[in-house]
Amino acid sequence: MTLPTPIPKAPKVMSVNILDIRIDNVTMSETLDWISVAMQADPQVRQICTVNPEFVMKAQDDPAFMHLLTTTGLNLPDGIGLVIASYLLRKPLRARVPGSELVYHLAERCAKEGWRLFLLGAEEGIAAQAAAIFQQKNPMLQVAGTYAGSPAESENDAIVEMINASRADVLLVAYGAPKQDKWIFRNREALSTVRVAIGIGGSLDFVTGKATRAPVWVQKLGLEWLHRLILEPWRWRRMLALPRFILAVIFSR
Ligand code: UDP
Repeated sequence: MTLPTPIPKAPKVMSVNILDIRIDNVTMSETLDWISVAMQADPQVRQICTVNPEFVMKAQDDPAFMHLLTTTGLNLPDGIGLVIASYLLRKPLRARVPGSELVYHLAERCAKEGWRLFLLGAEEGIAAQAAAIFQQKNPMLQVAGTYAGSPAESENDAIVEMINASRADVLLVAYGAPKQDKWIFRNREALSTVRVAIGIGGSLDFVTGKATRAPVWVQKLGLEWLHRLILEPWRWRRMLALPRFILAVIFSR
């Protein structure tokens, strides 16, 4: 896999290194501007990852995932844990750019620019439902397609063919990290029309109301993770990644 060539006139992105992972210090509007420039650049897939502490901890034990993260166009700071870590490292990130918010802004930008959007992943029916919601908010939006499918190898080529036939420009993949990110990485050269592909985790579950985000005041206090733990207590083992992450950052200073 070759590294993407730099995007002409792309806004220069500063970044912060957290546990050997480059986190780009961008705001939501800079992310959308970066995507706009990528859409005008030469045809190749630019991959964007939405990084949170669980994601960082998984990468520590997975060299292939770690490598993938060095080849991406943007690694977005999705998750308050990354912002806390950046302060601990005295290189503060300016903003969180949650995938669950990016998808709404991106659907709007796709409608405005005429980019065709494909939603891949999540449980059966969720992507189609999310597409209908985006279309209701943005009547000009062209949905190239939706498909749940699975990240399994056996389905890989058929899904790539489906996306290529749909002539999608922007692809959102909701298979959870790192499966979604590895899916995009291994198919970057096979996707013939897609310019920007983003792993979005459970974002479509939030769009459709299958999962609910914390109230805004809880989000502002940086306690969204606690809200998720209360609603989905079976995640407790996975969420131990957060304290492990903070400790690892402290020891890495
Ligand atoms: N998912 C999927 N296929 C899989 C694994 C996960 O479609 O094999 C979907 C799942 O339905 C959810 C999304 O991936 O919509 C994200 O899952 P999870 O909540 O585990 O990811 P996170 O948001 O924590 O990254």
